[in-house]
Amino acid sequence: MAARKPGLIALFDVDGTLTAPRKVVTPKMFEFMRELRKVVTVGVVGGSDLSKITEQLGNTVINDYDYVFSENGLVAHKDGKLIDVQSLKSFLGEEKLKEFINFTLHYIADLDIPIKRGTFIEFRNGMINVSPIGRNCSQEEREEFERYDKVHNIRPKMVSVLREKFAHLNLTFSIGGQISFDVFPQGWDKTYCLRYLGDFSEIHFFGDKTYKGGNDHEIYQSERTVGHTVTSPDDTVEQCKALFLAEP
Ligand SMILES: [Mg+2]
Repeated sequence: MAARKPGLIALFDVDGTLTAPRKVVTPKMFEFMRELRKVVTVGVVGGSDLSKITEQLGNTVINDYDYVFSENGLVAHKDGKLIDVQSLKSFLGEEKLKEFINFTLHYIADLDIPIKRGTFIEFRNGMINVSPIGRNCSQEEREEFERYDKVHNIRPKMVSVLREKFAHLNLTFSIGGQISFDVFPQGWDKTYCLRYLGDFSEIHFFGDKTYKGGNDHEIYQSERTVGHTVTSPDDTVEQCKALFLAEP
């Protein structure tokens, strides 16, 4: 490990960057990361929880990388040990959460859309997912809602009301997928994990969704990182070889 350059870390998105979308890491990539780790400090940051990241990167993931940031770093592991945990519940507190959830449920109750199903709010560790139609609709109903939403702007209108009503909570609203949007505190994107990397003066970030609206955009843009856009895991390997493993 003597060759590892101090102050430099290579930080990787998981899905689409180290693995094909929603797939498991290949033995070739696993081996490449092991080799890379001999010359630079290596970390991963994924939006999913640790169990999902473990499914994709393997059972020994927290020991295979110097840093593992699941849920964008709300759960942080360093050298195989848990170093920090954050949650929406402890960050906002029950009163503010209840105020938000109550208002949102009232809004949905008053919303006149063609059909409604169940699970309008899904409470997760680091975010609230809101769906005007309800998450347990069928695939067909889901597609119908998406078409209806494109014409009637149900989600954008709802987001603008919530954004104004809860401006004091500094929340970010992210419309993604077909039937819902996510709500989380400002800064709880992938840049969240940078707070643990104060010792590094050169942070190279690799991600596949670095475009505006993509989940790698904020960290890619951050002035604390050198951002690299990759098109596939193979591209990640090629870019790393050129950057870190090229013979001087
Ligand atoms: Mg990705």
